Amino acid sequence: MAGRSTNPELLRGRLRVLLGLVDEHDGGSDGGTGVAELLGPTEAPAASRSALAPEPALVQVLTADGDSIPAHLLRPAPDVATGAGVVLVAGHGRGIDDLVAQDPVDDYHDGLAHKLARAGFTVLCPEMVSFGRRRFAQADGAEPYEPTDNTCGIDAARHLLHGRPVMGHRAADAQAAVQALRRLPGVDPDRVGVAGGSGGGAVALLLAAVDPSIAAALVATYFCTFEASLCSIRHCPCNIIPGLLPELEMADIAALIAPRPLILEAGEQDRIFPIAATRAAYARLEGVWEEHGATPPELVVTDGGHAFRAERSLDALVERLA
Ligand SMILES: [Zn+2]
Repeated sequence: MAGRSTNPELLRGRLRVLLGLVDEHDGGSDGGTGVAELLGPTEAPAASRSALAPEPALVQVLTADGDSIPAHLLRPAPDVATGAGVVLVAGHGRGIDDLVAQDPVDDYHDGLAHKLARAGFTVLCPEMVSFGRRRFAQADGAEPYEPTDNTCGIDAARHLLHGRPVMGHRAADAQAAVQALRRLPGVDPDRVGVAGGSGGGAVALLLAAVDPSIAAALVATYFCTFEASLCSIRHCPCNIIPGLLPELEMADIAALIAPRPLILEAGEQDRIFPIAATRAAYARLEGVWEEHGATPPELVVTDGGHAFRAERSLDALVERLA
């Protein structure tokens, strides 16, 4: 279409501005060398270092701005450790506790943080604004939140009124988690990727697109088209990033990840991210990676609905990052 930029660096800069990660006059650093660090027990106690059930430790990601973000850290057992790391972002639900829940597992994530740790990754799960430990403070006398309540509506309004989408705040916090994870002994700073499903997939996709230092991305039950999903089916307002369209459809954003590894998982029966649009958007990606002489993204379609299976998609991540 006439007038649209196809220059990846210009589009990446535009996406950073729309997310509120830089202001319009900023050149836009890629965020690859941050000063965020992890505080807390970063080595799991020896007794819990079982390959089958690595024990999550509750740590804090201290950002360059002085914010402190609660996070679960899982270290793989030494005999399976690959040296690679993954920042794992939760979708809507109880926040990071859903990622580590085991008995019972959360229906959507299915013990995902443990699956990644068993596959040999060091896994850091930062709590995102609006969920779990980072919900907007309640008014005096209000009913306590239910565990699955979120404060997306309030946070989306507050952020949008200030001109910065909450999704940009989440991407920045996930980026701080990546920076902190890179500094952990035993983690290769060049092999830290991002993963997430649904709203967590949005964060993973956006962060990998804006930050070329992210080694790989696994995005589940999110990649589709904005037109067929957010613009046509009711979704949470926290997904809204003003000004993305028409220039930055999801495939345009995903293309900014080239030539790095990108794995997409989608459910054949997903009612809120329709599979036909996912396949159509995916068809736009292959040529972009081929231009770089790189292996194109893999689309894993499960026979399920809106759920993160992490079966073939996790194997693919291991093949590309571990
Ligand atoms: Zn939301």
